[in-house]
Amino acid sequence: MDLARSPADEAFRAEARAWLRAHVPSEPLPSLETEEGFAAHRAWEAELAADRWSVVHWPTAYGGRDAGLPRWLVFEEEYYAAGAPGRVGQNGVNLLAPTLFDHGTEEQRARVLPPMACGEVVWAQAWSEPEAGSDLASLTSRAVRTAGGWLLTGQKTWSSRAAFADRAFGLFRSEPGTARPHQGLTYLMFDLRAPGVTVRPIGRLDGRPAFAELFLDDVFVPDEDVIGAPGQGWRVAMSTAGNERGLTLRSPGRFLAAADRLLGLWQERGSPASARDAVADALIGARAYELFTHAAASRFLQGTPIGPEASLNKVFWSEYDIALHETALDLLGEEGEAADTGWSEGYVFSLAGPIYAGTNEIQRDIIAERLLGLPKGRR
Ligand SMILES: Cc1cc2nc3c(=O)[nH]c(=O)nc-3n(C[C@H](O)[C@H](O)[C@H](O)COP(=O)(O)OP(=O)(O)OC[C@H]3O[C@@H](n4cnc5c(N)ncnc54)[C@H](O)[C@@H]3O)c2cc1C
Repeated sequence: MDLARSPADEAFRAEARAWLRAHVPSEPLPSLETEEGFAAHRAWEAELAADRWSVVHWPTAYGGRDAGLPRWLVFEEEYYAAGAPGRVGQNGVNLLAPTLFDHGTEEQRARVLPPMACGEVVWAQAWSEPEAGSDLASLTSRAVRTAGGWLLTGQKTWSSRAAFADRAFGLFRSEPGTARPHQGLTYLMFDLRAPGVTVRPIGRLDGRPAFAELFLDDVFVPDEDVIGAPGQGWRVAMSTAGNERGLTLRSPGRFLAAADRLLGLWQERGSPASARDAVADALIGARAYELFTHAAASRFLQGTPIGPEASLNKVFWSEYDIALHETALDLLGEEGEAADTGWSEGYVFSLAGPIYAGTNEIQRDIIAERLLGLPKGRR
């Protein structure tokens, strides 16, 4: 991909910047991990969508601008530089939507994507189970055939924002007793308010209630909500995971903006030499990540699906995020904990980065085995 931006790209950037300047709320919205904040962020999604800024890379038929991945990257740079709110619709937009583009039917795309684009339907990811996190294929929640669809039973856990979300997507065992655990799984979408669903918030250190576990007891799902073929869920899930780790979950714009903010903080604090190398590392890291992501987008646009390289991105951004926040907290000293600068909250969240979207230990295994061709480790 040519990294030089064309005049048309720059015009797109200017349009996005002007829109964001006019619309980004002057005060931060309440946390989207609370009921009030969730609603406020949902309204923000609707505002973005009204002018077609919520999913710029999607086809226009579903609420996008057909702008393509390179301009999505431009938009994200502007979005984060403008300090715009976190995206409550991110599970749907970054994980489910690419999965539907790869494996969904036209009917599913037409039905699911437009309400997702405007925040009317917010999605949760229901993958992890109490005994199936890293080893996701060992999941035991079941999908049992019934007239016109499936009945789901089991428990899902660690579901981000599920306490306030509308629908969820996940994997279920539809053929027990297969030779390998990856076989006989089915990928389904379901309603979090359907009869048989109990959503229970999981306590967080900060007391915010959006993180949840889900209990499913014969929850009916119609056939139209199966993505891909029944029994082929693992293949479908790998498309979700590649997107989660490799491209859309953490755009370089987020880190370019954060590194700029860190540079500003360092300068404001008298440019202490003790932090100079760490600040330089953050700036270089953001640029390196930008180049790597552009290369991934470029390969993707040329028809190469996102493969195990996604694990490199995942390890990089999660470790980068922690280092960047640690540097900011060092610069702030005691003030970092006392004042509401955003750095301390960001630091706490960054600590979860090496865990969610697949732990870094698992990503390193994938890198070792599938990219470097090293022998399989003992499991
Ligand atoms: C903030 C946050 C948000 C999340 N959001 C969601 C969500 O929305 N939806 C969802 O479905 N899940 C979500 N998760 C769950 C997340 O995907 C899991 O926590 C993760 O996959 C790890 O699974 P586990 O917690 O069961 O840990 P385990 O799999 O029990 O792992 C425990 C430790 O053992 C290590 N380990 C396990 N197996 C191996 C191995 N073979 N080799 C080396 N080390 C190994 C792990 O790396 C880890 O350090 C979220 C988690 C967090 C922290």
